[in-house]
Amino acid sequence: MKINEQQLSQVNSRLNALLASEHFYGKKLREAGISEVHSAEEFEALPFSEKADLREAYPLGLRAVPEEEVVRIHSSSGTTGTPVIIPYTKKDVEDWAIMFARCYETAGITNLDRIQITPGYGLWTAGIGFQAGAERLGAMAVPMGPGNTEKQLQFMQDMGSTVLCATSSYALLIAEEVEKRGLQDKIRLKKGVIGSERWGAKMRQRIRDILGIELYDIYGLTEIYGPGIGVNCKYETGMHYWDDYIYIEIIDPVTLKPVPDGEQGEIVITTLVKEGAPLIRYRTHDLSRIIPGECPCGSRYPRLDAIVGRTDDMMKIKGVNVFPAQIEEILRTFPELSSEYQIRISHLDGKDTMRIYVETTGDVDFIGIAGAIAEKVKSKIGFTPLVKVVEVGVLPRSEKKTKRVIDERYE
Ligand code: ZN
Repeated sequence: MKINEQQLSQVNSRLNALLASEHFYGKKLREAGISEVHSAEEFEALPFSEKADLREAYPLGLRAVPEEEVVRIHSSSGTTGTPVIIPYTKKDVEDWAIMFARCYETAGITNLDRIQITPGYGLWTAGIGFQAGAERLGAMAVPMGPGNTEKQLQFMQDMGSTVLCATSSYALLIAEEVEKRGLQDKIRLKKGVIGSERWGAKMRQRIRDILGIELYDIYGLTEIYGPGIGVNCKYETGMHYWDDYIYIEIIDPVTLKPVPDGEQGEIVITTLVKEGAPLIRYRTHDLSRIIPGECPCGSRYPRLDAIVGRTDDMMKIKGVNVFPAQIEEILRTFPELSSEYQIRISHLDGKDTMRIYVETTGDVDFIGIAGAIAEKVKSKIGFTPLVKVVEVGVLPRSEKKTKRVIDERYE
């Protein structure tokens, strides 16, 4: 999916704004002696932007408009050091709501729906994005925010919520609570809009089975507006993304060269119309691919496949590069296992060791299944992990992102 003429002219207008500001990217452009791009090749020669650039700009160095045009800031979670602060103009906030409303529409959600929003509000972009999109659409937002499952379930029944917005972990937790309390007949949920983390087919199936709802994956990141820049349609053939607002490239994370459509690589995003903090060729470190061809729904918007992992999730075990998604793929082939798992990497007796914790019910042969999993990892990936089988419910579930990979070598 090469960049087109209109997108190039939008990029040039962003480059002008960046050159006129104190923004780090303006500096990169000046150093590279670039002020405009005229072709896909020239665009692909533009420098990348990295999360570290954004951190260094703390607190407000990413602002590319005069002070009076900024109406809001958001911040990334900042789990590793300095947070990233993204300034938004009035137009940025509106554009984000338009994109989010488009996500809801793509999921078949209308102004007759009641949307229960469980992601967090505040500096974080999640809750407010789901909210603004719902209001733009004209649906009734039920702005719960995270946690307090008791109240969530009460409101879900009393307000007759038809749409649940949540992380996949929290959607699973809600689903399991609904099942435990036998509330299936008392709720009116029809759809789930799930954001912000990679999740497996098993977890999806479990939520779908219990709640009997359609599930939609929403994509986005704080640096690029927030959630809402893409969502799958009912055909579940990848997430449509809004190429009138963002341009997506997939690059090889090692050579940094764009890969052909259909090939797996790192998602790199350029914002085409963002004013407050435009980003050019921002490396997300999310791994996915562009799905070639047309979607049966007839949408003209291109598609991105589900996120399979992060370039920095790559683990090196006994000289072999492994992604958590590969382990998950193997676990998925064992129907006896639940959707939960945990990977622990440690350094024992001078060797890197991977332990995989999985859950199953009590009537399964724990030792037999552990052996079968270890054998399959050995044959598919090339090293033998230690597999520990535990009872269903033992592994942690969380209201936020469930941490599935724990690297004890660096703790
Ligand atoms: Zn579609």
